[in-house]
Amino acid sequence: MVIKIYNTLTGQKEEFKPLKEGSVGIYNCGPTVYDTAHIGNLRTMIMYDIIRRVFEYENYHVNQVMNITDIDDKTINKSKIEKISLEKLTRHYETIFLSNIHSLNILTPNRLLRATEHIKEMIEMISVLLEKEIAYNTKDGIYFSIGLFKEYGKLAKINLNDEVRERISNDEYEKENPRDFALWKFYSEEDGEVVYEAAFGKGRPGWHIECSAMATWALGPTIDIHTGGSDLIFPHHTNEIAQSEVATQKPFVNYWIHGAFMNINDAKMAKSKGNFLKLIDIEEAGVSALAFRYWLLTSHYRTPVNFTLEAVKSAQIAFIRLIETFVRLQEVEHEHIHAHADKIDYKKEFKTRITNDFDMPGAIALTWDLIKDHSVEAKEKIALLLDFDKVFGLGLNAVLDIQKDEIPAEITVLAEAREDARKAREFEKADALRAEIENRGYEIKDVAKGFEFKKK
Ligand code: AMP
Ligand code: ZN
Repeated sequence: MVIKIYNTLTGQKEEFKPLKEGSVGIYNCGPTVYDTAHIGNLRTMIMYDIIRRVFEYENYHVNQVMNITDIDDKTINKSKIEKISLEKLTRHYETIFLSNIHSLNILTPNRLLRATEHIKEMIEMISVLLEKEIAYNTKDGIYFSIGLFKEYGKLAKINLNDEVRERISNDEYEKENPRDFALWKFYSEEDGEVVYEAAFGKGRPGWHIECSAMATWALGPTIDIHTGGSDLIFPHHTNEIAQSEVATQKPFVNYWIHGAFMNINDAKMAKSKGNFLKLIDIEEAGVSALAFRYWLLTSHYRTPVNFTLEAVKSAQIAFIRLIETFVRLQEVEHEHIHAHADKIDYKKEFKTRITNDFDMPGAIALTWDLIKDHSVEAKEKIALLLDFDKVFGLGLNAVLDIQKDEIPAEITVLAEAREDARKAREFEKADALRAEIENRGYEIKDVAKGFEFKKK
């Protein structure tokens, strides 16, 4: 089925046409590893994962590339505050990031690129921009002359009038100015040990050039899809387009996809505002990572969500009901099927929804319709639910694995011995046998039919 995508560049939903038939190259702007990701960042990572899964579901060969920003102002500042090397700091947060995405059932991108491992490509691209005289030197670094790139701002729909263009290309900017557009920052003592040699002067790359250089290196001068949170449209992606299109003289990206923000108390969740939560915070408040994922699937990726614990907890109730229903479906033996002449083709409808700009809320609603549909046999429902979960990533197959997980024979023997002891009213012996079973990592539960096990 054709995948329809809302493209930020054109402001329209378009039919996706790959550069190469049957394949898709995707570049995701990844985390800046100076701290643990907050749940807003993780919303964006879940969106990336859904996009990848939908393409895989539609039998595309996916090449998903994500960068790890392990060198920029924030990471360097933090390493100074913590008095540890940049590498030690960033590897620490990278590990936490990988563990977070694992908990959320986010598939590991095909390639994870650390910025510090691609400085060479960044230097090469800056050299090209210097040769083309769109980059210029100042005393503190090399800048990109926005005014000389006629199409500057096309993604963010910013129209620079000539006066603004003039000012942007001539001024020197403060670091925090959003129009600040350093390609390379010359070494200053504040950078400590973080320094790279380049023909145009030792220093370190600006943030925007990192993504341009890595994306081109991994996926070529023109890329099918580039993604990020909506805050990246300007200036980050706007500047990436400018750098890349001048350097390669080719269109940089065919489809730009941007995810809406997660807010909290109706304000943007951001590290700089201090109003953020991490995955571990919500887990400690009793929300599982996958219930959080389920909650996010019930909103479209282009709709902002407002985080409240109550909202996520009520989604968790629905999520648990989904898992319980799935488990119960396996136990159905006799069922009364109400045959309908116009039976819904759930698989087809599912594909229609997921390929309509990744409509997860629609696909989740369809899943509940399927569950309630008395004209579909339990066996068929199970197969469909497992199939849909290839896109949802809610771990239904893991539920099956736990169920299948056979109890070792020794445990069964111990349990039967305990049952005998209980019947003979030898309670001390029974308790000792229970302790032994528990020592071996199993919990025994007495139920009407006898006993049941649970892995501890
Ligand atoms: P960072 O680690 O700051 O580089 O951000 C990683 C990703 O998270 C980027 O794609 C951002 O656009 C995205 N992001 C940042 N804040 C939020 C938020 N509150 N909600 C959703 N995505 C966000
Ligand atoms: Zn980026």
